[in-house]
Amino acid sequence: MKHIQTFQVLPDIPEPLSFLETLAGNIWWCWQYDAVDLFHRIEPRLWDWSGRNPIRFLTYVPQNRLEELATDRSFLSHQQRVRESYERLPCLHMKDNIYPFETRDVIAYFSMEFGIHESIPLFAGGLGILAGDHLKTASDLEMPLVGVGLLYRQGYFRQFLDQDGWQQEDYPETDIYQLPVEKVTDMHGDDIEVSVTGPAGEIRATIWRTHVGCVPLLLLDTNLPENPPEIREITSKLYIGDQGMRISQEMVLGIGGMRALEALNLSPAVCHMNEGHSAFSSLERLACIMKTHDVDLKTAMEIVPRTTVFTTHTPVAAGNEEFPADMIRPFLIPLEEALGVSATEILSWGQLPDSSPDAPLSMFVLGARMAQYRNGVSQLHGRVARRMWTHIWPRRSEEETPISHVTNGVHIPSFLSHENSQLFDRYIGPDWQRHPSDPANVHRIDDIYDEELWRAHVMSRARLIRTCRRLMVSQYKRRNAPKEVLKNAELVLDQDILTIAFARRFATYKRANLLLQDPDRFEALLSSTTSPVQFIFAGKAHPRDHEGKELIKRLIHFARKADIRNRIIFLEDYDIHIARHLVHGADVWLNTPRRPFEACGTSGMKAAINGVLNVSILDGWWCEGYAENRGWRIGNGEEYGDPAYQDAVESRALYNILEDEVLPCFYDRKNGDIPMRWVRMMKESMKMGMRTFCSHRMVSEYNERFYQPAAKRLHELLADDASEARGLATQRDRIRTLWQDIRVEYPERQTEGAFRVGQTFRISTTVNLGELRPDDVEVELYYGIVKGVDKLSDGKSQPMEMLEAHGNGQYLYACDITCAVSGRYGFTARVTPGGDDWIRFTPGFITWA
Ligand SMILES: *Cc1c(COP(=O)(O)O)cnc(C)c1O
Repeated sequence: MKHIQTFQVLPDIPEPLSFLETLAGNIWWCWQYDAVDLFHRIEPRLWDWSGRNPIRFLTYVPQNRLEELATDRSFLSHQQRVRESYERLPCLHMKDNIYPFETRDVIAYFSMEFGIHESIPLFAGGLGILAGDHLKTASDLEMPLVGVGLLYRQGYFRQFLDQDGWQQEDYPETDIYQLPVEKVTDMHGDDIEVSVTGPAGEIRATIWRTHVGCVPLLLLDTNLPENPPEIREITSKLYIGDQGMRISQEMVLGIGGMRALEALNLSPAVCHMNEGHSAFSSLERLACIMKTHDVDLKTAMEIVPRTTVFTTHTPVAAGNEEFPADMIRPFLIPLEEALGVSATEILSWGQLPDSSPDAPLSMFVLGARMAQYRNGVSQLHGRVARRMWTHIWPRRSEEETPISHVTNGVHIPSFLSHENSQLFDRYIGPDWQRHPSDPANVHRIDDIYDEELWRAHVMSRARLIRTCRRLMVSQYKRRNAPKEVLKNAELVLDQDILTIAFARRFATYKRANLLLQDPDRFEALLSSTTSPVQFIFAGKAHPRDHEGKELIKRLIHFARKADIRNRIIFLEDYDIHIARHLVHGADVWLNTPRRPFEACGTSGMKAAINGVLNVSILDGWWCEGYAENRGWRIGNGEEYGDPAYQDAVESRALYNILEDEVLPCFYDRKNGDIPMRWVRMMKESMKMGMRTFCSHRMVSEYNERFYQPAAKRLHELLADDASEARGLATQRDRIRTLWQDIRVEYPERQTEGAFRVGQTFRISTTVNLGELRPDDVEVELYYGIVKGVDKLSDGKSQPMEMLEAHGNGQYLYACDITCAVSGRYGFTARVTPGGDDWIRFTPGFITWA
């Protein structure tokens, strides 16, 4: 059948309920329990059946039910309350609904995935959920942010297991008409299209828009009838396997995304690239700045990176994306004209320093090269990233590698349980949602009566167990399991015993099987009747990760034993819905990565804010979160050379913690069956989550450290016909030509012998700057504790002052240092360009004594 014409039949919503359609059109509803409850009460089972997708849901609610509600006073007053809360969103009162904010300093946030709610399948895992949380939080904080991503027809795969426990994948088609998205059109009502030139011709894409509260999210889509089939496929699946397709996808995201913003008249003040996938956006932004401000490429290069943020999430070098030069080159040729340089030159921006012209292009290198603000996602990951990439900034120490960190956080209103949310309303006041990390709110947690918190948690656990049973039944039904198996599935787990959840991607480094190291000991733990414990596992393996699938299969086989069958289950198709239930209702959140491969991890934070206690390797965020009074650590943060030995040591440590600490603490009941010490730990955990691991803290940190200074800098650079940016470009050229003439003599101290703590002494050196002048450069003393030969650890720098000009480019520099801590110190001196980090950290612009 060809040329099928389509039409859509919409439900006939009675006028008094018309707000329900408005509400369904803005994803804001998903982090407001009052709004979720409003949909839920219409028809609870249908709500679940619809995947909690309000648009889909409303098309199935029977007409007579709608008619009934249209005159139901209690329902209408509930609806009115939600409506009033919705109408308090500040953006609704502004004219332009594409870009609702007053300031024109737009922050464009690019991400390959956005995980906002389970009914909008545009994400695979943690990276996407982080991006979704970023948008929700920006809306809560009324920040002028715009998300840019892709609209996938098949999203990420759905997981189910066969009889043998082997993972199967399914890519169901998403019905766009059941998503809260609409096409962006121009004044005449025509679709706005953008196009990117690929090797096989134009890649055309339309733009869809969805509203995340006040924040618009633009989604590009190449599935247009006028595109050839292979081009329509580009935005079909998230992380498409074929490399050529993947490049096209990232071109559409980066270049197409920038063009979409331009088409909507939104010229971003700051661009944030969430992981390297969107690094091509900076190429288009260069072209855009050149055209709009009539400047050359060199000048644009002084502007774009100074206003770009790049967040890396990958602590393994192999995990960072690379494309072969000959594959990427045809995509760069169309950019030659706009940028006025050769494709070879553009390619070199994404290659390691000193590599050959056919070296692969690394999306990390390109992203890092185009952004002055670079960060990892936890303190430890920042350190790992500096070690991994130190070679990009030659002759700098590892500690000085210019990559910092912003620890991730989670959107508390999205992940707090219903039960806890009610407690927050009562003890903190309903406004807590807007400032969850406010210190005044955090202290309020201590006021909650222990009994009340515990009862709330017991209720969440009961809800989790109920959900698990329902899911197990439907899993078995899909496998056509016999009747008695189905019957048994209705009785799995126990709602009154210690419940431990392990839910995450089944990648080998996450070691889902660590508990299976000693199967007998694990079995003994699971069959205990005095201190009973149960485990819930969930998670997808990457479709091509054979080992990951093996892990799932082993677990399924282990869980079949008759004596433990009801104490250990695997939930298929881990997604936000399952995650939400688990982080609400489990007692312990287990995490066993091989340090340091977990960049951050956010599921443990979701658990923490609900008072679910973490038992985790000291990796990612837990290095910052762990304290004795709010959870447990497995090991002390060691790293091992031998993985088998590591598994043996750490699995023993894990069994010991569970047997000797977690279980006794959980079953130590007094005062009417309340585990007092456990509840105290729950409160500490919740306070930690609110204070430190909340997305409001994270987004504020991005805003204060990166977005605000970058936006301010943009205006300075562009003022006066971009005179400062032009000047900086000229200065950079000058420095490049004259740099090799710089010589620094070994610095000398002017006092002999050893010093006592507190003493101050002077160090001086002579520097030959050639034709450069003292105000072109920064001369610094660099000192630290001597470690080995010619190596300083914990190096610090201190500016030296120019004391005398000796003529012929020779200058005397000196500074005083005060001995703060005893030890054996070494020092040397160096010259870098003066100015901000973007010039100072230019690879090559550093000369040591
Ligand atoms: C929070 C979340 C993640 C990320 O958490 P990790 O700790 O990195 O595993 C992944 N998937 C889902 C569905 C989540 O909700």
